[in-house]
Amino acid sequence: MLVAESDAKFMFCPFLMTHDDKMKMCQVTQCMMWRWADDKKEKGYCGLAGTPRAAK
Ligand code: SF4
Repeated sequence: MLVAESDAKFMFCPFLMTHDDKMKMCQVTQCMMWRWADDKKEKGYCGLAGTPRAAK
């Protein structure tokens, strides 16, 4: 799924948890797994789930 950076930061990351086991939001460009889908950096995705068909 391709999302704008402004939307991704309100989506849960499956790997980040708080000290009391609550899910944390995607860190977007602060995370090494974030990938941009276009040169304009308008949309991107979490690279841990592979490359979305829309980005190929
Ligand atoms: S890009 Fe990083 S912080 Fe965001 S969901 Fe993927 S692994 Fe988590």
